[in-house]
Amino acid sequence: MPTFVYMTRCDGCGYCVDICPSDIMHIDTTYRRAYNIEPNMCWECYSCVKACPQNAIDARGYADFAPLGHSVRALREETKGTISWKIKFRDGTEKNFVSPIRTTPWGSIKAPADYDAPTEDAMKSQELAHEPDALHIEALPVLTPDKFKQGVV
Ligand code: SF4
Ligand code: SF4
Repeated sequence: MPTFVYMTRCDGCGYCVDICPSDIMHIDTTYRRAYNIEPNMCWECYSCVKACPQNAIDARGYADFAPLGHSVRALREETKGTISWKIKFRDGTEKNFVSPIRTTPWGSIKAPADYDAPTEDAMKSQELAHEPDALHIEALPVLTPDKFKQGVV
């Protein structure tokens, strides 16, 4: 589900155009406002939503995130180190939550070639590369059969 732009908020700065990895945010040449030229190709990465200084872009998220028909607003506030999310449902209900910005400094992530080649065992493991070390935990949590019954009466 794609992004959409509130025309009355957009000032045509073009930040969303520059950041969109799918190159689908364009500026309308007549109205000088941004719009999504190909909604089917939107990755719903929220990069443009977070980058827009006017908070002019919302998205309609996938149904596994919230039921269809809602809008999602993400507000990135670097001074607070937070991203605030607001989900607004069709009946007017709102859900708000805040998460920390987890962007790492430019150049602080090692390139894949700087790591040792994975062992044969690691290649057969279901863990992703550098798990669990990169998550700063000893081991990934395991779902045991007794946990399948949690919440089932
Ligand atoms: Fe482009 Fe991502 Fe915005 Fe979709 S959500 S328009 S892919 S930047
Ligand atoms: Fe408009 Fe926001 Fe895109 Fe700037 S970043 S062109 S204000 S939608």
